[in-house]
Amino acid sequence: MAIVVLLGPPGAGKGTLAESLCAAFGFAHISTGDILREEIRQGTELGRRVSACMESGALVPDDVVTAIVAGRLGQDTVRQAGSLLDGFPRTVRQAELFDRMLASGGMALDRVLLLEADRDLLVRRLTARRVCSQCRTVFNVIFQPPGRDGVCDRCGAELRQRPDDMEATALERLAVYEEQTAPLVAFYARRGVVVRVDAGRAREVVHRDACVALGLGVLSAERDGKGS
Ligand SMILES: [Zn+2]
Repeated sequence: MAIVVLLGPPGAGKGTLAESLCAAFGFAHISTGDILREEIRQGTELGRRVSACMESGALVPDDVVTAIVAGRLGQDTVRQAGSLLDGFPRTVRQAELFDRMLASGGMALDRVLLLEADRDLLVRRLTARRVCSQCRTVFNVIFQPPGRDGVCDRCGAELRQRPDDMEATALERLAVYEEQTAPLVAFYARRGVVVRVDAGRAREVVHRDACVALGLGVLSAERDGKGS
């Protein structure tokens, strides 16, 4: 079945699109962050290696991440459902390891779906979160704005931006993407597997375009949720 990699800068909406595509088509959502946390929770050998890395502040080595993704893709249910990878591969080195791993398991990558959006929009999205200084309610100035600027709807306290949501952090994340992950676009484009979607529009539009780009029938996540 299909193996699709979602590629795109932070703020492009990979997680949101992954969720809607998985809900509509039953793909397994392979998010490395989630898988790493799950391995740690279950106390597997890989999980112990991952938590040792994290505690020392080091990056989880490429071979460990790749082994974890390989394990998940090799599961029967995942093979049958097809999978959508979100957050992996992150570097050309990981992509090369991933190719070898797929080949040895008799699998191949079908498509790379690239979400594109301009930098200003990405920065706006990455800096949109506000948290109430008192009750901790989370708002988003684009998708879930408070009734009054800077004021919590629930308790009237001041809304603040966390350091992780500030512009300097957003620019740093975009720079890391440009340096480490963006080279994957050329890496996969040479193989003719890259399809592009404009991620600057509403999530429903992005979902529909992604379905078309992947050659899937257009199914909305909503319809699937009603069990039809
Ligand atoms: Zn509040």
